[in-house]
Amino acid sequence: MSLKILFLSAEVAPFAKRGGLGDVAGSLPKALHELGHDVRLVMPAYGNIEDSIHSGQFDIQAREGGLLVPMGGGAELAGVFEGKLPGSHVPIYFIAESSLFRRPEVYGYPDDAVRFSFFSRAALELTQSLGWRPDLVHAHDWHTAPAITWLATAGQGNPFFQNIPSLFTIHNLSHQGKTEWQIFDYLGILTHSLVEEAYGEVNFMARGIQHATLINTVSPTYAKEILTEEGGAGLHGLLRHRSYDVHGILNGLDYSIWDPAADPRLVAAFSPDQLKERLANKRALQIRANLPQRDDIPLLAMISRLDYQKGLDITGHVIHLLLNDIDGEAQFVVLGSGSAAYEQMFANLASYHPDKMTAFMDYMPELAPLIYGGSDMFLMPSLFEPCGLGQLIAMHYGSVPIVRATGGLVDTVSDGITGYTFHNYEAGAFWEAVQRALRAFRSDKSTWQRIQTEGMMADYSWRRSAYGYQQLYEWALARAGRQLD
Ligand code: ADP
Repeated sequence: MSLKILFLSAEVAPFAKRGGLGDVAGSLPKALHELGHDVRLVMPAYGNIEDSIHSGQFDIQAREGGLLVPMGGGAELAGVFEGKLPGSHVPIYFIAESSLFRRPEVYGYPDDAVRFSFFSRAALELTQSLGWRPDLVHAHDWHTAPAITWLATAGQGNPFFQNIPSLFTIHNLSHQGKTEWQIFDYLGILTHSLVEEAYGEVNFMARGIQHATLINTVSPTYAKEILTEEGGAGLHGLLRHRSYDVHGILNGLDYSIWDPAADPRLVAAFSPDQLKERLANKRALQIRANLPQRDDIPLLAMISRLDYQKGLDITGHVIHLLLNDIDGEAQFVVLGSGSAAYEQMFANLASYHPDKMTAFMDYMPELAPLIYGGSDMFLMPSLFEPCGLGQLIAMHYGSVPIVRATGGLVDTVSDGITGYTFHNYEAGAFWEAVQRALRAFRSDKSTWQRIQTEGMMADYSWRRSAYGYQQLYEWALARAGRQLD
């Protein structure tokens, strides 16, 4: 059955990406399209997008006539651009409203709630003006939750929108889009407040959870963790209330971008049956990092946003133990940017061990593939991790992940099979897992190679995720009383 899916996101790679959300919105629609669905994307036309349209960087055209968006009891005129998601036939529309979106950043403005409320309402209005009635609205994170709330309330008064089910995907529960109650006047919504909202406050994340037909997060384990007080960011009560409707679907990896057999950013291509070729990347990485070129020394790596979420508070001590280890030598390369305190921590460690460690404290997408393809082990000791992409890339590139068993890391890394895991959030447990990996690397080559190849061959394609989403779409339609053909 082919479904018409309206896909709403504040970020879509390559047009605008600030994190995993941009990757998902840039990849999943293509995989859904390949399954035969009519997916259409809508995102805001940020400053860089309007500029690139005028410079011809993307093949995007303005739609004639624009779009009248009913807001605040009146109507506002917006521009609409249309094109295709690069490398696909998936239509993408951009809502242009210069005073709201023609800015350098995607988020972080005091009027974000107004910006994304306008965007959400405009995206729904666009479907009506196109005469394209979606079978389902798939909204992502709080920025597009206003569309779900409008659909479930005011939208029910409009026959075009009646009975359209929705799926709300949570990528990051900690950003909730809290704003003032007046936003509902702007959206034309009459509703009552939720227990999760303070007096006069609207919490769009809570609204998405409350009003969506179904809800999902980006891994099955994270879907369970957010039902607990510890992982629920204040919304666990609401989430528990809807626990039967909360699902988890792992993100995929775009294998057309991440392919060690054809990645021009590597020094040497390799595959599971040509693992020896991989060594040329390790040597190139050692040169790039100014470390001794030694094949026998285990080279550990980390690529990460430098944020407390990523487990950096238990990492410093482990690196210290690793580089002082009397049982054998090791090398460590870290690529990361973010918090100044963690940058300082890594810079200090590197200055103690200049011949064993290098810290690249920057955002360097061109260097990342060589680190994935040249290191022996990849560290990801996250405090929490909704899905995680780093471990998927590392596995695919033959770097054995050592991860904390949380969120998506539980669902993707199996201890002793595709990597090494530890549970307690403390340096001792982390160090114990690193030692197990080091022992296998140094003295059990056959186990090591089996773990490497097992990880390289695991299937985390978007196609697999797309089947999961297709299943949720069908359930949501059935919930709305729609018969499946
Ligand atoms: P998150 O989305 O929470 O940052 P993920 O593991 O899901 O974590 O995705 C991180 C992505 O960003 C990976 O593709 C990783 O290679 C990349 N990345 C993180 N930090 C850097 C950096 N400093 N330079 C280059 N790429 C980076």
